[in-house]
Amino acid sequence: MTTKSRIHLSVPHMSGLEQQYINEAFTSNWIAPLGPNVDAFEQEIAEYVGTKGALALSSGTAAIHLAVKLLDLKPGDKVFCSTLTFAASANPIIYEGGEPVFIDSEPESWNMSPQALAKALEQAQSEGWLPKAAIIVDLYGQSADMDPLLELLDHYQVPMIEDAAEALGATYKGKACGSFGQFGILSFNGNKIITTSGGGMLLSDDLEALAKARFWSTQARDKARHYQHSEIGYNYRLSNVLAGIGRGQFRVLEERVEQRRKVFERYYAALKDIKGVNFMPEAPFGRCNRWLTTLTIDPNLNPVTPNDLLDALEAENIEGRPIWKPLHLQPVFQKYKYFAHGSAADSQNSPWAATNGSVADYIFNTGICLPSGSNMTTEEQDRVIDVLLKVLKK
Ligand SMILES: *Cc1c(COP(=O)(O)O)cnc(C)c1O
Repeated sequence: MTTKSRIHLSVPHMSGLEQQYINEAFTSNWIAPLGPNVDAFEQEIAEYVGTKGALALSSGTAAIHLAVKLLDLKPGDKVFCSTLTFAASANPIIYEGGEPVFIDSEPESWNMSPQALAKALEQAQSEGWLPKAAIIVDLYGQSADMDPLLELLDHYQVPMIEDAAEALGATYKGKACGSFGQFGILSFNGNKIITTSGGGMLLSDDLEALAKARFWSTQARDKARHYQHSEIGYNYRLSNVLAGIGRGQFRVLEERVEQRRKVFERYYAALKDIKGVNFMPEAPFGRCNRWLTTLTIDPNLNPVTPNDLLDALEAENIEGRPIWKPLHLQPVFQKYKYFAHGSAADSQNSPWAATNGSVADYIFNTGICLPSGSNMTTEEQDRVIDVLLKVLKK
């Protein structure tokens, strides 16, 4: 066992500005949910992302839930969803009795494959149905390839929810992640690039829809002196104190993106020439916020497995993680349909030949996430790099 201090995957990184906004909330006695910090935080984020409005909520998951409700998801309806993501991307489909259909990644960005989406849409239409919505994730802080994805969705008139929980500060062709769908969602959970300790945001140009979501998120109280309810509501609003933390965090967002990108660059410089090691590529269409630095090891070129690396890191008190386990492989989602990027036949000479054309399976089998916090010291990064070099070069 080592006595070295723990290096975590991604921890909150305060700017020092948060306290000022929290103090304002206390001195003006706006401790209750709602208040000036909430309004200002919504305005600041909407302006930054470039949507007409924003709704601050208690989590990113709550934002996805309200987005699928706004798209009128009913029991039995199907929703397409990226497979390579956290379960929270798809759980709200189930909350409403819907059925997820999972779509594979493409190798260029690790995000939803236009090729797999096209197959799924064609097959759905040939069977006489279409999905109610498509939830497209911007994985590990990188935008999906929005133009071809949106072209397909527009053709079939399927609305998009952009799950940009990991991608605040990232762009696609110069435009901010979170702004591409009919609805966009962000997360301010403790491990994300900026945090309110827990929180999320629903983004949209549709102010009427946001007003409806605001109504649902505050217990669906009708306009009346007494408590009257004509619809089922939720307690999903972000508190004014937490919004204060968010405002202090938001002021240093650009700095945090630069810091995470630097963490990536140091790992990349140290490890890029090792046989079989491939970092998540930064697709030419956007700027990645490098929320987490992730890499795969091609088993045909290097015998070291993700578990070998994670074990070696753990022995040095360093937290690494596997890549998100694809949702179509999760016990709770296994029964739902899945569309892979390639087929067994057309993938024969590719790295995903062994997974029958599924790129997400290949990335999961061969990949890991490295500690990537914006507050990591260079000494901490060197500790990680030393462990990786030792194992990978053996
Ligand atoms: C974190 C995350 C969520 C959920 O956000 P919470 O604020 O934790 O509810 C959803 N989707 C993705 C891709 C995430 O990484």
